[in-house]
Amino acid sequence: MTTPTLLILPGDGIGPEVMAEVRRIIDWYGEKRGMAFEVSEDLVGGAAYDAHGTPLHDDTMARAQEADAVLLGAVGGPKYDDLDFSVKPERGLLRLRKEMDLYANLRPAQCFDALADFSSLKREVVAGLDIVIVRELTSGIYFGEPRGIITEGNERVGINTQRYTESEIDRVARSAFELARRRSNKVCSMEKANVMESGILWREVVQEVHDKDYPDVELSHMYADAGAMQLCRWPKQFDVIVTDNLFGDLLSDAAAMLTGSLGMLPSASLGAPMANGRPKALYEPVHGSAPDIAGQGLANPIACILSFAMALRYSFDAGEEADRLEAAVEKVLADGLRTADLIGEDGSTPVSTTAMGTAVLAALDDSL
Ligand code: NAD
Repeated sequence: MTTPTLLILPGDGIGPEVMAEVRRIIDWYGEKRGMAFEVSEDLVGGAAYDAHGTPLHDDTMARAQEADAVLLGAVGGPKYDDLDFSVKPERGLLRLRKEMDLYANLRPAQCFDALADFSSLKREVVAGLDIVIVRELTSGIYFGEPRGIITEGNERVGINTQRYTESEIDRVARSAFELARRRSNKVCSMEKANVMESGILWREVVQEVHDKDYPDVELSHMYADAGAMQLCRWPKQFDVIVTDNLFGDLLSDAAAMLTGSLGMLPSASLGAPMANGRPKALYEPVHGSAPDIAGQGLANPIACILSFAMALRYSFDAGEEADRLEAAVEKVLADGLRTADLIGEDGSTPVSTTAMGTAVLAALDDSL
C-alpha cells in the first residue's frame, strides 16, 4: 500500500502556530501508532502572496489536487487588506475549494462536557451534543445566475437566484448518507419546500437517493426555519443535517455557537471520490487568522487538532484513531486546561498554544 499523502498549508497569523501543534500530533501517530503519512508543507494566503505575488501558486494547487488530504490553518490579516481583490489571501482558499470541487462542507457541533457552561444554552441542552451539518458548498443562491443590481424604472433591484440541479443535490445527499452510516445512521434534510421550487426538488431528490441506495438510513425532512428552532430547542434530536448553501451557512454558524468558542471548531470540505476511493478533502478550523493574538502563543490549537481528527476519520479510514484524538482533547479539557479564549470569569491562568499541544500529546500517550 502506498503511504497516504497530506499537504499542510499553515497560512497566516495564528495558522502556523496552531499547525505546529498538529505537526507534533501527526509525528506521534507515526511513532506510536505506526501510521506513516507523507507530509509536505506549502504556502497559502498572505504568506504565498509575499513569496510569489499570488495567494495560491499553481504548483501548490496541483499538489493539493494530488494529495489524499489537505490541512489548512488560516489565511488573511490587516497587512493584506488593501490588496486588489484578485490577490487577497482569501482568494487562495476560495481557489482551493473551487478547483477541488469541494461540494460538501461538514461542520460538526460537538460540545465537550467540560465546556458546556460556555454555551448560551442550558447545560442539559448542549452537554454531550455531537451533530454534523452537511452544507452544500458550490451551488445555490451564492452562485446562481442571473445576479446583480439593476435599475428598473426609477429604483434599483438586487437579484440573486437559487438554482440547484438534480445531480448537485444527489451528490451532497450521498455525502450525508455516507457520513450518517459512520455515525448514528440518521439524516434530517432541511429546505423550504413549502415556498421554494428548489426546495421541492431538493426534498424529492434526497428522498429518491435514500430510497434507492440508502434505505437503511433513517431519513426525515424539515423546513429550514423549523429546523433552526429545533436546533435551539433540543439539538440532540439530530445526528446529520443536510441542507443547501444558504441555509447551511446560517444553520452551521448557529449550531457552532451552541458549543462555545471559535477556537474549538473544526471543519471538512469533501468532493468527489478520487481513483483510490478517498474523497477530495480539505480540513481546516472554522476560525480565521486571528491577527489580534498572532505570535503571542495565545491561540487555541484544538480546532486545528480536531480538523486533523476529521481527516483521520474521513480521509484515512482511521475512525478509532480519530476517536482516540478526540478523547485526548476531551481529557485535557476535563483536567481543567484552558487557552485564553476558554477562560471564563474565574480568573484561572490560561495555558499557551504549545502547552495545550503538549497536554494533548500526553493524553494520547496515556491512551495507549
Ligand atoms: P478570526 O476567526 O480570525 O478571529 C475572531 C476572534 O476570535 C478574534 O478575537 C480571535 O482572537 C479569536 N480567535 C479565533 N481563533 C482563535 C483561536 N484558535 N484561539 C483563540 N482565539 C481565537 O476572525 P476575524 O478577526 O474576523 O478575521 C481575521 C482574519 O482572518 C481576516 O483577515 C479574515 O479575512 C480572516 N479569516 C480567515 C478565515 C479562514 O482562513 N478560513 C476565516 C475567517 C476569517
